[in-house]
Amino acid sequence: MRPGPRVLFVTSEMAPWQKTGGLGDISAALPIALKQAGADVRVLIPAYPALHKAFPKARVVARIPPPGGLLPASRILQAETREGMPLLLLDCPTFFDRPGNPYQTQGRDWPDNAQRFALLARIAALLASTDSPIAWRPHILHCNDWQSGLAPAYLHYVHAGGAATVMTIHNIAFQGLFPENTLSELGLPRKAFVYDGVEFYGQISFLKAGLQFANKITTVSPTYAGEIQRPDLGFGLDGLLRYRKADLEGILNGVDALWNPATDAYLAKHYDAHHLAAKAENRRALAAELGLESDPAAPLLAIVSRLTHQKGMDLVLACADELLTEGEVLTQLVVLGNGERSFEQGFRALAARHPGRVAALIGFDERAAHRIEAGADIFLMPSRFEPCGLNQLYSLRYGTPPVVRATGGLADTVVDCTQQTLSAGTANGFVFASADAGSLLTATRRAIEAWHNRRLWRQLQKTGMSADFSWPKAAAQYLAVYDAAINASGFSPTTAD
Ligand code: ADP
Repeated sequence: MRPGPRVLFVTSEMAPWQKTGGLGDISAALPIALKQAGADVRVLIPAYPALHKAFPKARVVARIPPPGGLLPASRILQAETREGMPLLLLDCPTFFDRPGNPYQTQGRDWPDNAQRFALLARIAALLASTDSPIAWRPHILHCNDWQSGLAPAYLHYVHAGGAATVMTIHNIAFQGLFPENTLSELGLPRKAFVYDGVEFYGQISFLKAGLQFANKITTVSPTYAGEIQRPDLGFGLDGLLRYRKADLEGILNGVDALWNPATDAYLAKHYDAHHLAAKAENRRALAAELGLESDPAAPLLAIVSRLTHQKGMDLVLACADELLTEGEVLTQLVVLGNGERSFEQGFRALAARHPGRVAALIGFDERAAHRIEAGADIFLMPSRFEPCGLNQLYSLRYGTPPVVRATGGLADTVVDCTQQTLSAGTANGFVFASADAGSLLTATRRAIEAWHNRRLWRQLQKTGMSADFSWPKAAAQYLAVYDAAINASGFSPTTAD
């Protein structure tokens, strides 16, 4: 086997130490899958308190003086995860020694986010260049979302002869927009502030910088790769993405081995596609834990989500009372999430109006997320847009068929239950097209009706549980993109050997 490329994977989140959403999960799983596929991968991530705590023996491998602008000095610490993944921790206590959410404090963005994540990108570029203070030099610099988006721009403006670059969009709605006057503080030259540089409608856009200068661009599902080229879902970057269309590819995320109902340590009882009866134990345990009435005849709906407009939480709130009060057997609902205050309050109020039948867990709780996926009957994910979506993949794997809107990764992974798809053996959930409460209601009613038909439901569950959303499959596709990026960049791997 030809040795795989050396890859520096830059991220601002990595489960289990730092996670606000899907990026944390992906940054934990994809590097390992790449390594198993033969790549030599290292993950660069800020040394947040949780990482210092997890790796107290991390050793200093580089001391880096202030790299330009007003960016401070930092150190690189090296550690290794239990799975043998080498980590490069960017140690800069003034920027990263802050517990909790990496981007915000008390619901507000940290005022120095531009500087904090410019430093991450700046150091990533340094490590990917011939000026690197460490001997290991990557062939590929793989950037993820706006937090590392400036790295390809630094390679363009500051360092010559750097690695080939890949920019992955996990969510194009978050772009890292900062005022023009931070340009010099970030150590970028004046000439970078142009439309084919880092400028975006009068501001600096970290994500745009990555999309402009990376050799290849990926996003996390084929459908989303098409959608972000459209004005309605491109968030202003659709023109640039249409221009770079030939370099853009959608690669579906995998599901981490941690999400497996046959081995999941959080579950009351393990089960698989051949032992689905045991799933009921999880439902009983969940209902008892949440104070829901024990009523096996009632379907239990579930949501695990950021509580935001993107995720269609307003659509749920708009139809929930109707859904919960109709029919002979009253439906139940559990919601786990946090986000916009109005939605948090809305779900709390919903729970107060339907005591014993609605549970609202406002917060972030990994254990509860697993137990809900296992214990619920039907999963709701009515997103307005969804780059890939992980929770519908988890719910498929946990035999909890999802009701989803036909967008992004949801459209790529959930097959609507119809006569045709049932006969073809592909049906695994319920899909609706239009982002309105009526359409969600109709699709959820279809799901509830199907749930009452035990045979049909078993078929949906088994189809979902047998799907292959594996990381090795995704890793093979990323390796092909890396090859293409190296070819496009003209970067010769031998120069780094
Ligand atoms: P996004 O990254 O847009 O938030 P994804 O579906 O791609 O959405 O990923 C969400 C991830 O975060 C999943 O792993 C999900 O289980 C987790 N998650 C979201 N909200 C919560 C919560 N309140 N508690 C625990 N896990 C959560």
